[in-house]
Amino acid sequence: MVYCSKCGSKLSDDSNFCLKCGVRTKKGIKEGVSPHWAYRSNWEQEIEDALSKAAKNVEEAFNAARENIRRSINKKPIACPKCKEENLSYHKFCYKCGKKFK
Ligand SMILES: [Zn+2]
Ligand SMILES: [Zn+2]
Repeated sequence: MVYCSKCGSKLSDDSNFCLKCGVRTKKGIKEGVSPHWAYRSNWEQEIEDALSKAAKNVEEAFNAARENIRRSINKKPIACPKCKEENLSYHKFCYKCGKKFK
């Protein structure tokens, strides 16, 4: 049985770290075991990657939606059957003569 140098917790002989406070035991230091937080940068990098991937997906979805909207707005103009004036596809009435479009 070994005791933590920091908090005094009883630890099993094969412990490299205190299970209470995370401080390295003499065994851990002697064997050169890196503390878990030494790997944190990798872990943070993974989160970062996942987030940027998610952000990219959102951006692509936005672009697709924007493209759809743009396409639906940019439909060919329609010519009024009465006065032949060109109206945009979303017009319900001819803006020149007032004819109702079907
Ligand atoms: Zn401890
Ligand atoms: Zn018209």
